[in-house]
Amino acid sequence: MAQIDDLPPLRDIVREHGLLAKKSLGQNFLFDLNLTSRIARASGPLEGVTVVEVGPGPGGLTRALLASGARRVVAIERDTRCLPILAQIAEHYPGRLAVIEGDALEVDISPYLDEGPARIVSNLPYNVATPLLTGWLTAERWPPWWQSLTLMFQREVAERIVATPEIPGDYGRLGVLCGWRTHAHILFDVPPSAFVPPPKITSSVVHLAPIASPEAASVRTLEAMTRAAFGQRRKMLRQSLRSLPFPDGFDAGILLERAGITPTARAEELPVTAFVRLANIYDALR
Ligand code: SAM
Repeated sequence: MAQIDDLPPLRDIVREHGLLAKKSLGQNFLFDLNLTSRIARASGPLEGVTVVEVGPGPGGLTRALLASGARRVVAIERDTRCLPILAQIAEHYPGRLAVIEGDALEVDISPYLDEGPARIVSNLPYNVATPLLTGWLTAERWPPWWQSLTLMFQREVAERIVATPEIPGDYGRLGVLCGWRTHAHILFDVPPSAFVPPPKITSSVVHLAPIASPEAASVRTLEAMTRAAFGQRRKMLRQSLRSLPFPDGFDAGILLERAGITPTARAEELPVTAFVRLANIYDALR
């Protein structure tokens, strides 16, 4: 096991605190500091960077981020049982670890950020991973406050994040959203045996970097468009887009014609740029 700091090994800390993983909180812990250091390094240069970490748990990734030189880590944890362990880490790295007790879906992180660069790095709790990602990607302000997202997902979700029309089975709403505003790629897989307790599936670490100037579109309209299109992914678009509300005199056929998209095409054949075009033409109709 890697020695990255002078704190006791994670297994000993967890045993000492009697921290048994709770399934309801998506708890699958990483005890291997070699692996957590690899994730920390993969997120990009950390010197001078504030890292926001969701779900530090007993702190395996937190310790790696701090040991790798992050200026500060702001960690949001829902499980109060982890707080004494995190306090011990904070003591070891004075002034560099702030722990917010709460639900990452609700916490306002802005008071903890300053003008300096920030990255989000997390072994995400699987039960809230997709809503958290969607929240970060649909921010009004773009480019966002973060320079990158380095996140652990179930392999199947990772594949949907990086999917394109060339991979029809995985391509859907998430792929359009990620492809619109970010460059996303899978960095490496992590086997179940790396976690305590081991999940049933393989996981993947994904890196997403924001595109500074993505094509302009309303987030809400783009989401409504992909919801309608992929809600009935086997149907032709002239059929599936009928579920959208249209002003008098307009319908899905007219929308597709104005966008230069063949009405018999299916959602999973359309590249991201076509969805953006549809969203913008649809907004111009209303
Ligand atoms: N980072 C640790 C590691 O790699 O060993 C733990 C990762 S574990 C997959 C997910 C963590 O997220 C748990 O510590 C869990 O308590 C926490 N968590 C679950 N739901 C949360 C939420 N809504 N907001 C903040 N933390 C949450």
